[in-house]
Amino acid sequence: MKTLPKNGVKNVLIVGGGTAGWLTACFLAKQLGAGADGAVQITLVESKEIGIIGVGEGTFPSIRGTLATIGIDEARFIRECNGTFKQGIRFNHWVREPGAPGADHYFHPFSLPSQRPGGPDLLPYWLQGVAGKDVAFAAATTMQKRVADAAHAPKRPGDADFMGPLNYAYHFDAGKFAALLSTHAQSLGVKHVQATVERVALDDDGAIGAVHTKEAGVLTADLYIDCTGFRAALIGEALGTTFRNINDVLFVDRALAIQVPYERPDAPIASYTIATAHEAGWTWDIGLHERRGVGYVYSSRYTDDTRAEEVLRGYIGKAADGLNPRQLKLNVGYREQHWVKNCVAVGLSGGFLEPLESSGIGLIETAAYLVSYLFPHDGDFEPVAKTFNEMMKARYERIVDFVKLHYCLTQRNDHPFWIDNADMASVPPSLQDKLAMWRKRAPHRMDFVVDYEMYPPSSWQYVLYGMEYPTELYANAKTLPRTEEARHEFAMIQQVSQRALADLPTHRAMVEHLARRG
Ligand code: FAD
Repeated sequence: MKTLPKNGVKNVLIVGGGTAGWLTACFLAKQLGAGADGAVQITLVESKEIGIIGVGEGTFPSIRGTLATIGIDEARFIRECNGTFKQGIRFNHWVREPGAPGADHYFHPFSLPSQRPGGPDLLPYWLQGVAGKDVAFAAATTMQKRVADAAHAPKRPGDADFMGPLNYAYHFDAGKFAALLSTHAQSLGVKHVQATVERVALDDDGAIGAVHTKEAGVLTADLYIDCTGFRAALIGEALGTTFRNINDVLFVDRALAIQVPYERPDAPIASYTIATAHEAGWTWDIGLHERRGVGYVYSSRYTDDTRAEEVLRGYIGKAADGLNPRQLKLNVGYREQHWVKNCVAVGLSGGFLEPLESSGIGLIETAAYLVSYLFPHDGDFEPVAKTFNEMMKARYERIVDFVKLHYCLTQRNDHPFWIDNADMASVPPSLQDKLAMWRKRAPHRMDFVVDYEMYPPSSWQYVLYGMEYPTELYANAKTLPRTEEARHEFAMIQQVSQRALADLPTHRAMVEHLARRG
């Protein structure tokens, strides 16, 4: 018979104070209660010396629910985190190299394809060309592309917090976000200790027994949450869990990050992340309220650091003069087990996939939610660890497929990085199966197990058709039955987009409205 801790789980120690540590602290404090009156005592220890990674500025719309749950209002978030609205991602030059004939970009919007109650599913009609020749799927089925292209906001000043006519996430300054979460978590009763963990001691069962710190002595808890970033001081260094490297599928393993000022204080702010493909990776370009965050993620197998910096500077232009990028080495992959005995990894300690679709913070949100939902009050970790590990592994596997989808359909043959990415030998069999299925029919929600997915079916559709995948729909059918209705719908979407542009403020105006709100 297994022995459970006599008093159950009463003390939680979170090690690490980046986005993962503080978001988990807020979530647990809010869901379980913390401090003297709460069910558990939550302590977060972080090292001043080591600091946080300080990147990770793009999110997925799930962040709105997370902020609402932990009790941070939208205006405060925008004001304190240099925040802006993100309506999707614009992918430049992913399909073909610059200058080649054909579309030079596509858009992955967060709003779902329009579907009137009882109206036709527009995708099959778009595939048959009913929306018009060369009209991209995202432009035909949502008004978001047009709104975002014009640098308008997804919502108006009178709209409620976290609500708007269009779906959205945020861009923000990672350092400021961690500081806001820290203040907020402490107001919810989380205890804060500033100390560096020097040694992690295991008990007789091989579980974590204590952490020994330089400044605050020995700290013990019933449950330890490892949020120490790439270091993985508990789950990796102390417990030795296996890290599954996936560099054979996703090739990028380095990043250069730089903060770029706007040319003028009233410059328009892009309301999407701009992901531009280059010879051996891609740049992100994120418009915050008071600056841009720009970076190049690249593969050290296909380029070197000097050339990578040239590419980044070439992309930014004169605005990069006198600025020095930070270099980061990336461990791309994830742990086979995220929860082992009395230790659970959240954030980079559990895994990292390149930031193409902002999966990092989304995975932290999922993990923090799962820890609070599955919380083992009685100290019986085993069944909880099993469920947690299954859920996290499944999510990682599906995100790997989704990110690889962006690469493997490329028509670029200007550099070995792209040629090798399109080689089916680098594509996981699970994604190959999906692609084979979608050759004959479009992705449908029944193709996905919703609880294992971070991205909805529409995201797969936007990327698949943005990358010009040739689904040979109904090869034998000449016309679909609701063609006239669909044609009318496509026309309506264009009309509504015009009205939305008149109705929605510019992105900068909306951000400044919220930043001023006290
Ligand atoms: P960190 O921020 O590294 O925090 C680790 C914490 O642990 C720090 O407080 C540190 O002091 C502490 N610590 C470490 N060792 C010790 C010790 N021995 N004792 C005490 N404390 C210790 N995600 C997105 O969702 N969107 C993006 O756009 C995005 N872009 C990214 C771009 C790049 C180049 C990279 C590398 C990542 C990106 N991510 C992105 C991922 C995102 O940055 C992370 O998921 C997020 O910041 C969480 O990091 P973390 O809290 O796990 O680690």
